Amino acid sequence: MRRAAIFLLALASLLTAAGPPIELNVDASDVTRRLLHAKLTMPVAAGTTRLAYPKWIPGEHGPTGPVTDVADLKITGGGKTLTWRRDPVDLFVIAVDVPAGVSSIEVAFDFLLPPEAGGFSSGSSSTSQLAVISWNQLLMYPAGTPSDQLDFKTTLKVPRGWKYGTALPIARESGDTIEFQPASLTTVVDSPVLAGRNFRTIDLSPGASPPHYLNIAADSTGALQISDEKIAKYRNLVQETGALYGSRHYRDYHFLLTLSDHVAHFGLEHHESSDDRVAERTLIDDDFWRNSGDLLSHEMTHSWNGKFRRPAGLATPDYGSPMDGALLWVYEGLTQYLGEVLAARSGVWTAEDWRQNAAQTAASMDATPGRKWRPLADTATSAQLLYGDRADWSNLRRSVDFYPEGSLIWLEADTIIRRESRGQKSLDTFIQSFYGGPGGKPELETYTADDLYAALQAVQPYDWRGFFRQRVYEISDRAPMGGITGGGWRLVYRDKPTQLDKSSETAGKRVDVRYSLGLVLDEEGTIVDVMAGSPADRAGMSPAGKLLAVDGRQFSRDMIRAAIRDAKNDSSPIELLVKEADFYKTYRADCHTGERYPDLERVTSQPDLLSDIVKPRAR
Ligand SMILES: [Zn+2]
Repeated sequence: MRRAAIFLLALASLLTAAGPPIELNVDASDVTRRLLHAKLTMPVAAGTTRLAYPKWIPGEHGPTGPVTDVADLKITGGGKTLTWRRDPVDLFVIAVDVPAGVSSIEVAFDFLLPPEAGGFSSGSSSTSQLAVISWNQLLMYPAGTPSDQLDFKTTLKVPRGWKYGTALPIARESGDTIEFQPASLTTVVDSPVLAGRNFRTIDLSPGASPPHYLNIAADSTGALQISDEKIAKYRNLVQETGALYGSRHYRDYHFLLTLSDHVAHFGLEHHESSDDRVAERTLIDDDFWRNSGDLLSHEMTHSWNGKFRRPAGLATPDYGSPMDGALLWVYEGLTQYLGEVLAARSGVWTAEDWRQNAAQTAASMDATPGRKWRPLADTATSAQLLYGDRADWSNLRRSVDFYPEGSLIWLEADTIIRRESRGQKSLDTFIQSFYGGPGGKPELETYTADDLYAALQAVQPYDWRGFFRQRVYEISDRAPMGGITGGGWRLVYRDKPTQLDKSSETAGKRVDVRYSLGLVLDEEGTIVDVMAGSPADRAGMSPAGKLLAVDGRQFSRDMIRAAIRDAKNDSSPIELLVKEADFYKTYRADCHTGERYPDLERVTSQPDLLSDIVKPRAR
């Protein structure tokens, strides 16, 4: 079956390769005004042509293509303006009537870049100093044609003097215009460009093949001043991925790192690059560095887990076909685990940072009552809705928990393989067998859940199907702790925040007292969430409004912490004055636990597998 399918695909691409490519010219010289100008020239046949704007964006796992930001659309052919009409059901498709004798049309439109806004690549992507160019926002293609079968010849004009980085192979440059080598639509959409005024490129594997680059654009030149010590840690990351995976499925690799407080913050994976957007001071401030410590290792891991090996339901032929996210607990959950492990193996995180992160993850999943109604698998299937969910009552709804809880489950799988094989094998053994291969270029090999269980079984006989059924597909009152306990540690609560807690609060501008009083707030006191079953919940508080005063004094991080400490040895409740809309209300919360912050504690009667897991392998 597989062989036949490959043959048909190859034949189809030979047939279409005969036609001329679609030309795409993007003018980004107005990008600082949040305007991009796109012009496509494409071969067509006379009659009705249906053009699609990319809707389902790879890696975003949802219909997030920003079609509402397409403006000033003009289609011409044979020297005349052609009329177009939108499909009334699929709003990402337009129909154009092409007159007889016309063999090529020009499609021109502007793309309106959003101001400061959340979301993924459709969120804020530019400032006056930099821009991330996502090609899917700037093109249309013949609807229904597989993206592997369409060739694109692409150029990009950047603002005068700006530098850029991208994995899309370059044919030549002239002035501020870059001409790229012809590539399939799949490759073009998979290869964004990072451009900016303040720009730096760092070679992360000097003298080695394939090359790896850290391309950085920042809102200031000061933000580019990464220390040699931190550069060495990113170089370690490249080496550690080599030791873990054995082969690389790319020609070269580019981290496209955006340092700005005014773009949407997220990471988006590609075969040969990643679009990584973090706070401006991430490379020069240890709190921000620690808070984003696993981002680059997570996104790079996706080159293997997500891009090369991909759940069949997420390997869609074009950008109009819906995605099935049911196996995101592998695509994202295992990537979350490996990204965290690689952050520690490369030294970006210390082993202690990594354990503190595991404690945060385990505690937050354990304190999520939504787990009593919603199995983890449903958070994966519902991902396309849950990525955009609100933070209020998130612990009742559950969010994209397949990342953090997936990480706990894969940690447990790792400790099981180590235990059952008496230390001869580990999850690394499975990783090499499932994600290896000759490499050297981007490839796609899909898998099903059955393929995954069989591959694990081949590495270490175990009831893997039953293991994942219980943890992923069934509901459970408690978070999976077997990885932590099986690794020789246990989750405890201390009366002082960990270093990672402090960094998360500082970088995230949050005040997190969810394990004592039961509140997550922003620095100004706005109530982000109330933990169900907590003292704040029992006092009748809701995730709305702003906390103004604690025990009669103005709210601050220190003030609320002091009140929680004092209430430990006092039977009277903590008084919380909250402004909800234009109503003022006082709540009395009985909270006498003192401060509580999760951490891991060593259990010396068990072997310390957690420390083994994060030992560097490449050096
Ligand atoms: Zn991811």
